Amino acid sequence: MVQSLFRLCIITSTHFNVQHLQPMNIKEFRKNAHEIADWMADYLEKVETLPVKSKVNPGEIYDKIPESPPQTGESMEDIMKDFEQVIMPGITHWQSPNFFAYFPANSSYPSVLAEMLTATIGAQCMIWETSPAAAELEEKVMDWLKGMIGLPEYFYGVIQDTASTATLAALITAREKTTGYRSNRGGLRDEKALRVYCSAETHSSIEKAVKIAGLGKENLVKIETGYKLKLDPDKLEQAIRDDLNKGYQPMCVVATLGTTGTTAIDPLKEIGQICETHGIWLHVDAALAGTALLLPEFRWMIEGIDYVDSFVFNPHKWMFTNFDCSAYFVKNKEVLIKTFEILPEYLKTKYSGEVNDYRDWGIPLGRRFRALKLWFVIRNFGVDGLREKIRLHISLAQWLKQAIEKNPHFELMAPVTLNTVCFRLNPDKSMKLQKVNRLNEELLNNLNKSGKLYLTHTKIDEKYTLRMVTAQTYVTKKHVENAWERIITTAQEIINITPE
Ligand SMILES: *Cc1c(COP(=O)(O)O)cnc(C)c1O
Repeated sequence: MVQSLFRLCIITSTHFNVQHLQPMNIKEFRKNAHEIADWMADYLEKVETLPVKSKVNPGEIYDKIPESPPQTGESMEDIMKDFEQVIMPGITHWQSPNFFAYFPANSSYPSVLAEMLTATIGAQCMIWETSPAAAELEEKVMDWLKGMIGLPEYFYGVIQDTASTATLAALITAREKTTGYRSNRGGLRDEKALRVYCSAETHSSIEKAVKIAGLGKENLVKIETGYKLKLDPDKLEQAIRDDLNKGYQPMCVVATLGTTGTTAIDPLKEIGQICETHGIWLHVDAALAGTALLLPEFRWMIEGIDYVDSFVFNPHKWMFTNFDCSAYFVKNKEVLIKTFEILPEYLKTKYSGEVNDYRDWGIPLGRRFRALKLWFVIRNFGVDGLREKIRLHISLAQWLKQAIEKNPHFELMAPVTLNTVCFRLNPDKSMKLQKVNRLNEELLNNLNKSGKLYLTHTKIDEKYTLRMVTAQTYVTKKHVENAWERIITTAQEIINITPE
């Protein structure tokens, strides 16, 4: 009986294999995994030769994917064929060293390998007990990171999915603290208007968090920026006083280190003193620039860190750890946990209180094992290796800045502090703003159409401004030189064909 059952299984499985009705077995998994690892290495080896920005039109990919899912399983060969032919043309190559757009969303070899392991293990890391190693590695790696970027010892770290989530967590925590934990219980109906302050250059995630936290967008006060697009502390102080006079409750200030548009650095110490005077929560959004704190020469950015209640930066931007991995640090973990703690019966364990149950340190219950890739990255690069790359990126931005300053047809549009250079073509100073804007828009479109590089833009005082970010994991001096050369020749072509 046993024997015949056994035979039946074999027959069935062979039969299924032929028809591809059966999902992959372990033997096929091993073979495919090797092949895909080769695909990955081939891709990263040739990524700089691919057109950086995807050229597909809206709907093009969607229309190539069948209306309905397959009823019977398909072979990996067929799936990979479509991955190459249907999906890859619709991919913009963020890991290309010719990618100078938006911000770095850096990956790296050790990070990718750790991510594969995380997916393989597939652990759900919501509490200590659901995988002790994940909780304890997270605690340790966040301690490392805290030291690496020069935060004071007393901070506690936790990994969040994104800076947006971390900032939302910060605002909700500030809301709870400010209302004596009444808002989680009874809502905000009986509270004074809780006010949040940030600079006009602040990232959109702050406004989103204000909305989600139930504070109301009208209670977000955007302070005009002053010198070098930084938050103006005098205007902040004034806005707080005005609000107090109106009977509002100032709740939180968000200071940005490295704004998305121009990497402006808000003056933390002056802002911190104001927050202390009025008892206001101070949250720091250093999503991009936090990585620069690895360099002692950039620690001036966190002068005033003692005033800070919460701090977020994204290793998934500039620190070679593939998305997602956002490092969130808080001065007082009790306030954070008191805000987010839940304890349903099925999650009660005998170690509660003794270990870190990170479910209570943020919004999602389920958590990926993100600490693993951070650990791989930090160990494989070493602190010196990380610093070396960051310094290279900063020096490339400085090189580009000088090249722009030397060229009479171009002008710098913002100070170059870190890895982002803002500039525009302005060949004739008597040209009207609208026309200069159009010229720069055309320059950007032509550059991106070439496929040889990818830049994006911002607007500074209504001026259309090109942004070039020199911080991709694999970027070298040569890539930046080639890009600049192409910018000059493309600009030349435009100027020549644009009638005056
Ligand atoms: C990128 C960025 C964010 C948002 O980061 P996510 O992790 O994508 O949510 C927030 N603030 C600043 C300054 C950023 O540069």
